[in-house]
Amino acid sequence: MGNRISIRIISMFILVLSATLTNQSVADTEPLATITVEAGKHTRIDTPVSVTLEGIPEALSNVPIQLCELELVRRSGRLPVASQIGPGNPPRLWWILSGTTPAGSKRVFQLFKSPVMSMPSTVVEVTKDDSVLQIRRGDTKILQYNHAPVPPPEGKNPLYTRSGFIHPLWSPRGAVLTNIHPADHIHHIGIWMPWTKTKFEGKEVDFWNLAGGQGTVRFVKFVSTTSGPVYGGFEVEQEHVALKTAAGEKVVLKETWDVRVYNIGGPEKGYWLWDFVSRQHVVADSPLHLPEYRYGGFGFRGAAEWEGENAAYLTSEGKTRKDGHATRACWCDTSGRIDRDWQGVTFYSHPENFRHPEPMRIWPSGQVFFNWAPSQAGDWVMEPGKEYVFRYRQYVHEGKVKVADAERIWHDYAEPPKVKLERTSKEKEIVLFDGTDFSHWTDQNGKPVRWEIVGDAMKIVPRKGSIMTKRKFRDFKLHLEFKLPQMPPNVRGQGRGNSGVYIQRRYEVQILDSYGLETMNNGCGSLYKQRAPDKNACKKPGEWQSYDIIFHAARFEGQGNNAKKVKDARITMRHNGVLIHDDVAVPNKTGAGRQEGPEPGPILLQEHGNEVWFRNIRIVPL
Ligand code: MG
Repeated sequence: MGNRISIRIISMFILVLSATLTNQSVADTEPLATITVEAGKHTRIDTPVSVTLEGIPEALSNVPIQLCELELVRRSGRLPVASQIGPGNPPRLWWILSGTTPAGSKRVFQLFKSPVMSMPSTVVEVTKDDSVLQIRRGDTKILQYNHAPVPPPEGKNPLYTRSGFIHPLWSPRGAVLTNIHPADHIHHIGIWMPWTKTKFEGKEVDFWNLAGGQGTVRFVKFVSTTSGPVYGGFEVEQEHVALKTAAGEKVVLKETWDVRVYNIGGPEKGYWLWDFVSRQHVVADSPLHLPEYRYGGFGFRGAAEWEGENAAYLTSEGKTRKDGHATRACWCDTSGRIDRDWQGVTFYSHPENFRHPEPMRIWPSGQVFFNWAPSQAGDWVMEPGKEYVFRYRQYVHEGKVKVADAERIWHDYAEPPKVKLERTSKEKEIVLFDGTDFSHWTDQNGKPVRWEIVGDAMKIVPRKGSIMTKRKFRDFKLHLEFKLPQMPPNVRGQGRGNSGVYIQRRYEVQILDSYGLETMNNGCGSLYKQRAPDKNACKKPGEWQSYDIIFHAARFEGQGNNAKKVKDARITMRHNGVLIHDDVAVPNKTGAGRQEGPEPGPILLQEHGNEVWFRNIRIVPL
């Protein structure tokens, strides 16, 4: 495919019970944070929980961290709880609130810095080849995503060829619960999500019924795959294509799927739990109209064996296959018998979904088809530039569904436990340079620094390149001091003692001899070519000056190429103690800075041909 695939590195693999993992690894460290989980109104059993690691710089800089439950720490020492950090900005810590947590109760966890990296006893694992991606735990297969085009049975219209769907979905004991290309509806393919009746640029486009040749949906690329002790899954990009516009084929919608299977249940307990999120946006200039229609959207085609008396539906409102169609519900269970055993899938629609509780398509007889169908409730429009998010949870179970279990999982999904994180350790200052050595630094290419140390200061050696911190930073307070050379009077403008502090290697705070000049957007203290300092606080060349910078990185949603900036970076800054930027937005990278993105970045000190000095460089991650 030639696409860049980022494989998520789970920065933390934890083993719950292992003789090899002793308590001393974390015994003497104080916790970084305390995390409180409140069950709330509902009793919880083995439910996934998560919290953002906002304000935990260790998590942002990939220092291994460990989660421990306080109660267990007291009783038996710091046995870690399996946890996993999902990428993002800020990153999010995931774990399973294991066992039973009664309604109204509270559980307390602590987060520790830990040098231990240990493979967990079980992980939900993702494997991928040229045509399919599988999620499994050990030898047990859970589901498969088909990224290569799958042709229909021989002799059928090649327009039925389709990629970008889930099949098979297996039951915990290995029965195949989905069906593809059934004779009655050859376009049905396991679990998939096209729209049916739509209008685009004045023409009808049916992305569901492929034989009409109006539209289709395709796999584009994998965004990420994750294997881990808490969940395994993948993110994938797909496109919804109108095949016959005036200009020929046209991509109407871009979509990402985020599919994750939790390390909960399994064959012994007889169930799996997995989440599905589809994010869609219109990439064409014109909107996509969705007139009222009885089906379209997230669909499921049940196993062929699930038929007639051998199949059942039950909704959260108590409706069945007789009276369930075109009603609305929080969840709908579908089930049936294969050989001697019943298995089922309960589908949940998140309360934040459009038109929640969503209307459903339920077949009154025959085999089993299920569809969350928001278009049943009337016409709607997807506008260019807006994101439409559809969240669904699936509870795949052996046996017929028990309403109490289905309801408990609904509460976990709709009203999850409340998770609060409080940082317990104090802000720790990192001395990046005190005259001793360059141990915190490399040159701009990651090679050893070739600047000089003179007394307690460092001095730029022209043409030996810029230098940057080994560590990357997100939000921080930075102090540094610098001294400019006295340049001859015929050297002007940007030639006078030029250097700079590149925050995250993206945003340059200019260093220059601007003594006695008007403030300028490329002068000393400027955010280079973006913003002049509020005042000129420059001292003369040869005198030590200081910068005190408080920086809050730009905020992003999503990851990798799909990351979207939701908030500009902000900076507050003093030059020689004088406030020159007062909590101002930094709308974009400056000049030669790296592109903005969700990742943290190093502090880079610019070599610009002049012998500028630095000393006393200290940073406090925030
Ligand atoms: Mg500069």
